[in-house]
Order: sequence, then structure tokens, then C-alpha cells
Amino acid sequence: MEWLNRYRDSGLAAKLTELLKRQEDLGPVRFMEVCGTHTVAICRHGIRQLLPPAITLTSGPGCPVCVTATADIDAFILAAKLDGTIITTFGDLLRVPGSKSTLQEARAEGADIRTVYSTLDALQIARENPDRQVVFPGVGFETTTPTVAAAILTAAAEGIPNFSVISSHKVMPPALHALLADPAIRIDGLICPGHVSIMIGADAYEPFVAQYNTPCVIAGFEPIDILTGVVMLAEQARQKTARVEIAYDRAVARKGNRQAIAVMERVFEPVDAPWRGLAVIPGSGLEIRPQFDRFNARKRFAITVDDAKDPAGCACGDVLKSIKTPADCRLFGTACVPEHPVGPCMVSGEGACGAYYRYQKT
Ligand code: SF4
Repeated sequence: MEWLNRYRDSGLAAKLTELLKRQEDLGPVRFMEVCGTHTVAICRHGIRQLLPPAITLTSGPGCPVCVTATADIDAFILAAKLDGTIITTFGDLLRVPGSKSTLQEARAEGADIRTVYSTLDALQIARENPDRQVVFPGVGFETTTPTVAAAILTAAAEGIPNFSVISSHKVMPPALHALLADPAIRIDGLICPGHVSIMIGADAYEPFVAQYNTPCVIAGFEPIDILTGVVMLAEQARQKTARVEIAYDRAVARKGNRQAIAVMERVFEPVDAPWRGLAVIPGSGLEIRPQFDRFNARKRFAITVDDAKDPAGCACGDVLKSIKTPADCRLFGTACVPEHPVGPCMVSGEGACGAYYRYQKT
């Protein structure tokens, strides 16, 4: 753990903060931390409070559970209610509200919903229950999707007939395009998502520099990583320049993990997809390719949802677009708290509302 302490060094944090405070000619700037894990780290370590008033850090759409559309949550619940089905899911999906209920409530009503820690667990449950259908709700970005693709390839290779996936997977670059192209949203720089960047590589952000002149810095998740990323963004903003920089080179390379992306692309193809708060973004979703249709639970069980309704009064959509902060939502900390969440941003461990509530309270 000694190496990790370097990234939590309070003396170094003070020096980086001092560097930021000395940037007197820096006008007001608004940097977005795209990733939910960054949002949690920023709140937990009180990084916003360390920054000079000219620099605002705003949270973005990088929490995969939070951006999952209500219609997709409804589809997972419909699958759970099919006779003889076992749903295998990561735990953070259980309490996300659909239009009328949650997976957790469906479980209380008798649905067989099992929490798993990887797609390997889901496959094993399918092997052990050959007379049951095992459905895995696929939620996540480029970080998670290759593992789900690998599970489908394994099921195909082993001939596991009772495993399938409802894909709500998404890719990050089209969502960033949608945000940067929106004149109602001002973003002066991106703290690019660290985990996604390990997969897609730093070069994936070059179009944002070319098209929107937006500085991009890929940062890790420790306080020194994040402060270093903010210093690099501030320097670019002060120089009125834009480039892609890596402040997380112990994990991120220019080209990313091509092998993992190739596995993902073998199984999934791009489709237009709805994001909570961002509407339908062209090419931002991933659907299972037709040659793997037998592993596509939506097709296999004819699951469709036409009448999804977002939770009344919930401002998650605007929070995910950085138009509002969690505290701007009138339900924050009153009707909506982690014990009784109204929207997904309060449920997920990477959600902005949950992180603000736990660590900032404002
Ligand atoms: S505080 Fe709750 S209701 Fe408000 S935006 Fe966040 S999750 Fe939605």
C-alpha cells in the first residue's frame, strides 16, 4: 500500500492546491468530471472545497446505473417476472426505481433474483440450473461490456442454452459529443473517465479537442490524481489551448486495450440508445449482434416496454447533464435519501446525489 500513499500525500495536495490558487489570470472555468467514481472521490476527499472560486467541478453522466433509462429497468423487471427465470445482477441495480417498482420489490414478491459479482457467476448459475432461464441485465460502459461479451462467447463455445443478456450497454464518446454540442451546457474541460479510458485509450478524446476545442485530461481516482488533472486542465484553460493529456499513465495508454474492445465489438454492435436525461443518442448503445440472437433476452422472450415513466420530481436527468447539482433537486435530502431513494443517482454507489449526500450534504 505504500505506493498508494504517494497519491494521498497531503503535502503534495497542498502544493497542487497552491498552484491552482496562483493561477490569478484564470477566468471562471467549469470542468466536468465525467465518471461517477471521480464524483465519489471528489466528494469523499473534499476536493471541491480545496479549489479556488474560479474553478467549478461539475458532475457528468459517467455512472452507468444512473444513465440507464427507466424503460430498461422496466425490461429487467419484466424478465424477472417471467415464469422460471433467474435474474443474475450486480447489486447496485436492485434498488433502482423502474416505472412502478424495483428489482428488489420484484424479489420480495417472489422473483428469483440473485446478486452476482461477475458474469462468471451468472454463467455458473446457468450451468447449475439447466432447466431454468438465466438472464443477466447488461449495464455498463466500455469497462464492463467486454466481460459480458466474453460471457456470451463462453456460453456459445460451451453450448450453454439457458443464458441470455438484456443489453443496456453504452459507449461514452457519443454522450460526450452530445454534451459538448449542447449550447445550454458550458464545459471548459473534461476530466475524462479513468476506467473507460483504460479501454478506449487517450486517442479517443482527440475528436473533442478538434471539434470543440475542449481540453481533456485523463485522471486516476486518488486525490493527487484528481488534483493533478485539475491543474493540467487549468493550465490549458489559462493558455487558451486544448489537447489530450494523461495524468493516469500508470493505467492508460494512447491506444487503450484493443484486445478487450475487439471482444466487445465481436459480440455487440452500435445502436441508438436512450440515456436518462440525454434522450436518444445516436450510436451510443450496444446491442447484441444478430448472430448471437439466442443470447439476446429481449428477442428471446419478446420483452418490450412502451410506457416507461421517470420518477416524479426527480431531477436526475438534469444532474447527469450538469445543468443542476444534486442540491438543486427539491427532493434531495428530504424525500430522497439513500434509505429511500427516488432516483438512480441516489441509489448507485457512483451516483452524484448519493455521493453529495454522504460526503457534502450540499
Ligand atoms: S436527489 Fe433524488 S430525486 Fe433528486 S435528482 Fe437526485 S436521485 Fe433524483
